[in-house]
Amino acid sequence: MDTKKIESLARQKGRAFKVLIVDDEPRVRDIFKQFCEITGSVEVDMAENGSEAVEKIRESDYDLVTMDLIMPEMSGVEAVTKIKEIKPHLPVIVITGNATESLVRQAGVKGANSLMYKPVMMENFVDEVVLTFEKSVAIR
Ligand SMILES: [Mg+2]
Repeated sequence: MDTKKIESLARQKGRAFKVLIVDDEPRVRDIFKQFCEITGSVEVDMAENGSEAVEKIRESDYDLVTMDLIMPEMSGVEAVTKIKEIKPHLPVIVITGNATESLVRQAGVKGANSLMYKPVMMENFVDEVVLTFEKSVAIR
């Protein structure tokens, strides 16, 4: 697990990374939160549906969003659409369990940056997060 990589990227950035985890299932939010908290260089915030996520994104600056697709209140596709209007450069990783191909494609069209299918292994999750952080430090 590449925690050293995350820590050195955070040092380059001058602060910890902030990740917003969006999922309607508390158990899933907790698992992803634990994945993120393998290092103190990642701070985690959580939202349980799309509209809560959009509200949080308006209020604070995040470096990455992980986005479920099927949620009550506001779906992931609608949330990705709004997020990309508010913060076009904020990376969004879609993480879905049983979304249809059509939903996944829509999320991509609306600007989602990458896609993972549940269940997500910690190693794959961290690899994807590191890739995203590398890009965000590189374009700074
Ligand atoms: Mg869901």
